[in-house]
Amino acid sequence: AKKMGHNNYQFFDKSKHTIDPNTLSKESALFRAIENDDFQLFYQPKYDVNKDQIHGFEALVRWPQEGSNIISPAEFIPIAEQNGAIIPLTLLLMKQLFKQLEIWRSQDVNFGKVAINISALHFQQSSLVETLTECLTNYDVPARCVELEITESAMMDNPEFAQQQMNRLKALGFTIALDDFGTGHSSLGYLKRFPIDTLKIDRSFIKDIVDNEQDRNITATIIRLAKYLNIDVIAEGVETKAQAYMLHVMGCSYMQGYYYSRPLHVDKVAEFVNKSNA
Ligand code: C2E
Ligand code: CA
Ligand code: CA
Ligand code: CA
Repeated sequence: AKKMGHNNYQFFDKSKHTIDPNTLSKESALFRAIENDDFQLFYQPKYDVNKDQIHGFEALVRWPQEGSNIISPAEFIPIAEQNGAIIPLTLLLMKQLFKQLEIWRSQDVNFGKVAINISALHFQQSSLVETLTECLTNYDVPARCVELEITESAMMDNPEFAQQQMNRLKALGFTIALDDFGTGHSSLGYLKRFPIDTLKIDRSFIKDIVDNEQDRNITATIIRLAKYLNIDVIAEGVETKAQAYMLHVMGCSYMQGYYYSRPLHVDKVAEFVNKSNA
């Protein structure tokens, strides 16, 4: 029997760790923060340049500290993925998201879907389907309001399971986006076989798209591939007008990045939507 608590948390696996005091103290702080429900979702707009309106949002976790400091997910998500804390953390974030979507719906704040990031470890658990089914039962939010962002690694370890899992999630009404596309090792065959709704072109290809012909060619190829497979395609990390223009010319009409907006505090979302849709 596994007890809950900082030092004997049910997902904690000491054997996986070399004893780095810095990581260990971060870990116990992470478990405490999960118990205290300290995490906050921020929301970054996804833009539809053809319709000139908001296409949706991506929910991104933030860990606020004393004062105005915030720890970046790049620092703690890898630790949470290693020790399994990512699962209870994501459960909290899902509840937070569904609760918030219920509020926005009741206030008539209208936009497309909100995407939530699901780690590979979590995607490979059948409990994910039950958890999301519970969210649909407990909150007045239809599944079509929520997109699940997964990475190629979530599909590659066990493609048969991944395919079944995706089919179950799609049957519930969720859509699925393949995150950081181009950085992993997914085969084109999987793309065709799996029920993926959206490809997110990784920022590493977008960053130098204006000056680097190779990045431009790769990006153009991903856009054509998505069109061919009848999958939506969105560019991430769009920071400049020149990048946005080039992507639009290439046929990409969904964009996300600082050029459009940084991730927003929850209290700023309604205002942003009303301003953009005005
Ligand atoms: P990601 O899923 O690829 O998310 C996109 C990251 O790029 C976010 O960083 C976002 O703030 C950042 N970004 C957006 N536009 C731009 C831009 O124009 N330029 C640049 N330089 N960056 C941009 P963030 O929020 O720090 O998250 C980093 C990573 O942490 C995410 O990458 C994702 O892998 C992970 N993550 C964040 N939130 C969650 C979460 O709730 N659950 C899980 N499992 N992972 C999360
Ligand atoms: Ca993402
Ligand atoms: Ca991404
Ligand atoms: Ca990324």
